[in-house]
Amino acid sequence: MHVIHALHEMHNWVYMLKKSGKKIGFVPTMGYLHKGHLELLKMARSRCDVLVVSIFVNPTQFSPGEDFNAYPRDLTRDMELAQWAEVDCLFLPEASEVYPAGYRTFIEVESLSEPLCGAFRPGHFRGVATVVAKLFNVVQPDVAFFGEKDAQQLLIIRKMVEDLNVPVRIVGCPTVREADGLAMSSRNAYLSDEERKQATALYRSLQKARNMVVHGETDADRVLAGVRDVLRSDAPSAHVEYVEAVDAETLHTVSRIVGKVLIAMAVHVGKARLIDNITIDTDALTTNSQSAVMHAPK
Ligand code: AMP
Repeated sequence: MHVIHALHEMHNWVYMLKKSGKKIGFVPTMGYLHKGHLELLKMARSRCDVLVVSIFVNPTQFSPGEDFNAYPRDLTRDMELAQWAEVDCLFLPEASEVYPAGYRTFIEVESLSEPLCGAFRPGHFRGVATVVAKLFNVVQPDVAFFGEKDAQQLLIIRKMVEDLNVPVRIVGCPTVREADGLAMSSRNAYLSDEERKQATALYRSLQKARNMVVHGETDADRVLAGVRDVLRSDAPSAHVEYVEAVDAETLHTVSRIVGKVLIAMAVHVGKARLIDNITIDTDALTTNSQSAVMHAPK
């Protein structure tokens, strides 16, 4: 496995491979790899000739007061996991090279960046869109893989790529969950045992929403009240930042659960800010819980 830090070195390495016709797959991450990341790597590995994974805790997507400094990091373990996942190249750019002194250019994906997490993390998606665009320019992947767990991020990246004519195909991967439904996240490391138990309420509350819709409820307020009931009873010490029902493509708030609707939430449990979502497609009369991949506890 190649380990590359310098941007020009990364660029040169893929340039040679692309010249020989290799299909480059790319998975950008912030590291502290878990099984959610590993599923992305597995999917990417099976669809590409060359697999590049970046680990970069991107400072511009954290607001002042957020957990940039505390964000969990374990490069030794990440390197072992990447090797195990048959990654060809681990790209570890330095913040000082990604954002040199005098850096001035940012990408704003209007409208999609404003609701949900965007309303509570000002500048977050501007930082995400900017770093992903920069990484795409350096790595020049044919295909890039993103998790549906970050549904708003996935939509924003798709839009950015479409609007800026970036020649990369974006593939979304289903949310990977623990056996009890908790979506895997690097931030789960912040949870105490008791908080970890309460955190299972997020997915249970989303399943309640799904069940209500399956049983004929279409009023979004009533469905969201059902979701909040579960959070209140099963995660009493959690602080709900938002729970919303939005059109799965525009992210506009919906009053009725009809068509493809994303139910998304951000909930603070202890020090961890957890996000989760499901998409309910009433036209298909089935629910896509985006949770096809569940793992038994270790
Ligand atoms: P992160 O390191 O948290 O920035 O995540 C890197 C990529 O992995 C993003 O595309 C995430 O959406 C994806 N990801 C993180 N957790 C999960 C999960 N539990 N299931 C699927 N994808 C995930």
